[in-house]
Amino acid sequence: MADKRPNADCDDAAPDTLPLGLTSEPSETAARSRNSLNTLSPALERQLMVLSTVWDATRDALMVTDERNAIVAVNPAFETVTGYAEHEVLGKNPSILASGSHTAAYYEAMWAQLNASGQWEGEILNRRKNGVVYPEQLRIQLLRDPGTGELLNHVATFADLSLQKAAQRKMQRMASYDQLTGLPNQVLLRDRAEQSMAQARSGGYQLAMLVLDLDHFKAVNDSLGHAGGDELLRQISRALVNVAAPTETVSRRGGDEFVFLLPRVEIHALRLIAQRVLVALADPFVVSGREAVVSASVGVAVYPTDGADFDAMLNSAESAMYKAKESGRRCVRFFTEQMNQGARDRMALLGGLTRAADRGELRLHYQPLVNLNSSEVIGAEALVRWERPGYGLLAPAHFIPEAETTGLIVGIGAWVLNEACVQQRRWADAGLGHLNMAVNVSALQFRQGILERQVAEALSESGADPKHLELELTESTLMVQPEEVMDTLQSLKQRGVQLAIDDFGTGYSSLAYLRRLAVDKIKIDQSFVRDITVYADGAAIVRAVIQMARSLGLRTLGEGVETQVNRRALQVLGCDYAQGYFFGKPMPADEFEQWVSRSHQTPLARR
Ligand code: C2E
Ligand code: MG
Ligand code: MG
Repeated sequence: MADKRPNADCDDAAPDTLPLGLTSEPSETAARSRNSLNTLSPALERQLMVLSTVWDATRDALMVTDERNAIVAVNPAFETVTGYAEHEVLGKNPSILASGSHTAAYYEAMWAQLNASGQWEGEILNRRKNGVVYPEQLRIQLLRDPGTGELLNHVATFADLSLQKAAQRKMQRMASYDQLTGLPNQVLLRDRAEQSMAQARSGGYQLAMLVLDLDHFKAVNDSLGHAGGDELLRQISRALVNVAAPTETVSRRGGDEFVFLLPRVEIHALRLIAQRVLVALADPFVVSGREAVVSASVGVAVYPTDGADFDAMLNSAESAMYKAKESGRRCVRFFTEQMNQGARDRMALLGGLTRAADRGELRLHYQPLVNLNSSEVIGAEALVRWERPGYGLLAPAHFIPEAETTGLIVGIGAWVLNEACVQQRRWADAGLGHLNMAVNVSALQFRQGILERQVAEALSESGADPKHLELELTESTLMVQPEEVMDTLQSLKQRGVQLAIDDFGTGYSSLAYLRRLAVDKIKIDQSFVRDITVYADGAAIVRAVIQMARSLGLRTLGEGVETQVNRRALQVLGCDYAQGYFFGKPMPADEFEQWVSRSHQTPLARR
């Protein structure tokens, strides 16, 4: 009943009469009111005694103020709730209890309603004498003279809600979180999943649910004892939470079953994510000094393909989890069979690729690079192939993307650099002329000085001349970590290595930026070379690139030249070099050598 009205300063209003004649025992006013009881009828006297007892005994705080809103009476519960004794508040305005949490408009609305209807009820935050703010359920009623309608008193009743609120919060927590592990329980999981599904629907993306069931947990549990089993579950929960991203929910369904909710996933990354969960459990846990080894079976369902709502998704993920159990546990299965097949293929490919270099299954093919003006061969681009047992010779498109996402490209890249440098040196020794060797490098090789080390090693072991080694990088590589890339390129340049930008035009880099990186050559992407003769605009783009490159002192090479028309067009536009099936396809080293000897006999210009 804090009164924020400007005229409500009633501190000086002494309580000379108590309109209800009800007060608590030890106060002065109580004695006065008891004297006045002597003149009342026995029935009224009894009634007032009852009311007086209620006033003292009720757990609700009671506060009466006069017509100017100065406090004239409070009951013992008032002191319990607010911490103020009666003598501290008599004559004061109830605003001494205000917590400052409500706006002036809030109090204005309260008073407007009080004046209009004679009562107000609501939840309000007040401040105890010790400064603590607490919630209370407050009810205020106006008392008017029945005859004149004149305002006599305000009667406020309020109950402290703090305990009730704390209990409510505890209940809510108990209803949403698993008691043992503190993880969200299924109620909260359902809630979050339904929200995420709605977002995925409107955003047009996919969501995944992973059900994870510990393998042979019963046996582990039995051996550790009940308390040990509980401790293990808590440790497992922490391990799972550690591998989850902040947006993901890890929940416990009960027993030894956990559910991961991934609110937004790319399908191709899902396998690795699921694998990450298994890896989280790979190290043994230590419970009361004993090691416990656990593994899990994981089932994956993808929304909306595998289920239209929470229950359907959970069912699908669970049945996938049972498939994982059937396939020998400690593995991941997808609900959609096709994804299992895709995942199995990918795992087999990665397994083979990991050992491909050691098993000698990688090959390099060499594609000629030609000077457009002199028609001389200036070198070769080394292009990797994988002789995969049972599959034949695989082109890079079948394994380089996987190698890049898994990091295997770093090892493959090292092998390619060594092999290419060895080959370059062999050709030089065999008197094939000073052929340049172009080698493709991936963004991952730029990390932590890997590329510099690999190049240094390849050069020193082969004895190849750095100025005949040309590294091809793509525009996207340059964009990933510009700072790191810049440093690496600088030190490679100092070694004398040449740099080329591969597939130029497919990214967003500007030629001026490339110049700053000390790049020597631009390889214009095949798509533009093909367009030269298809659209008039196509020629205009290539001409612009060539002219700008020239003005910056950069050399240009046209990729994917397949016809004499392509070749002529590039030459007319002022391009320096070319590469493409028209001159020669990528071929093994010995074929390439024969090709070079032939080209010396039959100049390329006449082909
Ligand atoms: P890239 O570096 O742009 O290589 C040129 C690709 O175009 C080669 O495909 C080549 O065979 C193909 N090509 C050349 N001339 C023509 C033509 O006239 N017409 C057509 N249609 N295609 C032509 P390939 O060998 O399949 O290699 C594909 C890509 O794989 C390469 O593109 C390169 O980005 C990557 N790659 C190859 N070897 C390596 C490697 O050792 N390391 C890395 N990181 N990537 C590699
Ligand atoms: Mg290339
Ligand atoms: Mg290219």
